[in-house]
Amino acid sequence: MKSFEEAMVGAGAAGGGASEEVLAVLRRFWGFEGLRPLQLEAIQAGLEQRDSLVVMPTGGGKSLCYQVPPAVAGRTDVVVSPLIALMKDQVDALRLSGYPAAAIHSGMDQMEVRDVERDLASGRHHLIFVAPERLLTPRFLDLVARLKVSSFAIDEAHCISQWGHDFRPEYRRLAELKTRFPNASIHAYTATATERVRGDIVEQLGLNDPAVLVGSFDRPNLLYRVRPKLDVNAQIAETIRRHKGEASIVYSISRKDTEQIARYLVSEGVRAAAYHAGMEADERRRTQDRFAAEEIDVVVATVAFGMGIDRSDIRCVIHAALPKSIESYQQETGRAGRDGLPAECVLFYSAADVIRWRNLMERSAEESATPAEVLESGKQLLEEMRRFATVVRCRHAGLSAYFGETYQGTSCGACDFCLAEVEGVADSTVLAQKVLSCVARVEQRFGVEHVVDVLSGASSERVRRLGHEKLSTYGILKDVPRKTLTNIVYQLVDAGLLERTSGDRPTLRLNASSWEVMRGGRAVTLLQAKESKSKRTRIEEASWRDVDEALFESLRKLRREIAAERGVPAYVILHDATLRELASIKPTIVEALRHIRGFGERKITDFGARVVECIKTHQ
Ligand code: ADP
Ligand code: ZN
Repeated sequence: MKSFEEAMVGAGAAGGGASEEVLAVLRRFWGFEGLRPLQLEAIQAGLEQRDSLVVMPTGGGKSLCYQVPPAVAGRTDVVVSPLIALMKDQVDALRLSGYPAAAIHSGMDQMEVRDVERDLASGRHHLIFVAPERLLTPRFLDLVARLKVSSFAIDEAHCISQWGHDFRPEYRRLAELKTRFPNASIHAYTATATERVRGDIVEQLGLNDPAVLVGSFDRPNLLYRVRPKLDVNAQIAETIRRHKGEASIVYSISRKDTEQIARYLVSEGVRAAAYHAGMEADERRRTQDRFAAEEIDVVVATVAFGMGIDRSDIRCVIHAALPKSIESYQQETGRAGRDGLPAECVLFYSAADVIRWRNLMERSAEESATPAEVLESGKQLLEEMRRFATVVRCRHAGLSAYFGETYQGTSCGACDFCLAEVEGVADSTVLAQKVLSCVARVEQRFGVEHVVDVLSGASSERVRRLGHEKLSTYGILKDVPRKTLTNIVYQLVDAGLLERTSGDRPTLRLNASSWEVMRGGRAVTLLQAKESKSKRTRIEEASWRDVDEALFESLRKLRREIAAERGVPAYVILHDATLRELASIKPTIVEALRHIRGFGERKITDFGARVVECIKTHQ
């Protein structure tokens, strides 16, 4: 188990081989002692102005790669970013560190825009953040020309590709950059790109002999768990209880689901709120702000939430339903543990969600006249996701393989498989035989719901009308909870031992493998989650070693106060990793803060004394 920082040290010389100038900038603004392996190369490309495509997982440290070069070279670069919230957070964080940067976006009025433009003209900023649709306006192009901008960074570059999971038409126009500024270098950044998407980015942007830097996708600090979806509300609440007072995100498919889950959590005493694209912009912003200010701990959201979320101390990401691709899963779980500390990702899986997604995709393809091959590619991505969730192997290895990497090591110690939390159900084959023969008895004419009714011996009107209470399979599994039975049916579908037709009224059908199982020619392994007793895994324990947890809480409170005074989100002030280091080393003089990672010069001047005071009063 290697953390990012260990990987960094392992990269070679102190500072990861960075030059003195780069190190000076790192210390001054961020209080960092060195670079991670790929950052070094990406920064070099930025300094040499060679086009580049940098692929690193969320939390890998992409932003530093485009922040450092202009500061070292004393120039102004442009960063294209898709969302206002994302730009604002970055600019806030940079300014707090004393790094001059600005954003121009549609949330600003004419006056503000003019002020920023004037500031920029003086050349005092190192970075200008801008949305793609504004970049190509005559006014902005004029500014770019006047400032003699020689380097562009494209954040979330996968948005340019329709093969990716987050295509944005406005990114397409970025293809013009190379023709308009043939002498400027372009640096594309993304967290999620398969081979195909990577090629597409290079081609669309017209990158010239780019340095292609692909980081390891593995996030060693994330603990991945996949659980069969049974009583999902209760399962979510139980997971969140393990993270009391910590930040979590719950993702689900529909707006209705987010609201229903949020209501349930609130009724369980959790500080939670829903977030989805159907809410008023104001309400959405309020939820986002309250989450950033640590007034709520849990946001239950559709995918609409997260791109603008930079809270680095998210300790838990829950998927109440299957995401529609491994890319989405990687990106959504990637929001956990960006500070490098352990975080947990739990996916509640049911094959029913696969079917739900397929229907949604088909409907939306029909409505928006999507080309058949794009729909097909979407379904393929979904199928890969389903496979990830259902194949029992190390999750870290599974994700690495998907992104074309070989996972080093045999046991990650941070997934349900390696922690041996999944076990086979006793008498799986017999159970499967009973389920399959029930499908045969109802003549393969009914759906999951009805088959489960018959197996569990429900005395519904429909069962009686059809005379199904007289079937030999009626009630043969009445001791198994309904939710477990439903899950077993879907496990059989997943394993290809049972078919479920598509369409409005899907029915269960038998295939050749079903008959093989029923004849006793084939063994079946059904899975279930083992009850786990321990609250924290070994890795989580290790991250708290020597940390005074009460002091950590006091420091968090102080951080909230400072953030509120400045009107910025708490995580912009100091990261959890820095707070834990403080709560373990307990420096009592301001000078000593220089040795704490994440404390740059400006922050030491601005609130170093208050931090030290907090530590002293605690003792
Ligand atoms: P990304 O944009 O790739 O998602 P970020 O740039 O937000 O990732 O970086 C993730 C976290 O890692 C941040 O908390 C950042 O401060 C930290 N970080 C980045 N580079 C370094 C480094 N060289 N040393 C220590 N911490 C770093
Ligand atoms: Zn593993």
